[in-house]
Amino acid sequence: MCVRICRADRVTAPWDHVTGTITIPAELTADRAVTAVRAVLTALAVQQPGGRAICWCGADVAVPAPTRDEVVAHGA
Ligand SMILES: [Zn+2]
Repeated sequence: MCVRICRADRVTAPWDHVTGTITIPAELTADRAVTAVRAVLTALAVQQPGGRAICWCGADVAVPAPTRDEVVAHGA
């Protein structure tokens, strides 16, 4: 996987071709984050078969979990 996924409170540019980074809103749930990443990759002409996000090298893209869910998980 060559793409990096970042979460940010404010997204000005979802795709940074210099760093190869996709930025998604911090508040997205895990499902919505995958959907957002897939949308960006589709816009970059990377086919997205199935329900996962796929890098242009063919590897699964690991989408970081929402920060708030992480906090809940750590507290549970
Ligand atoms: Zn890759």
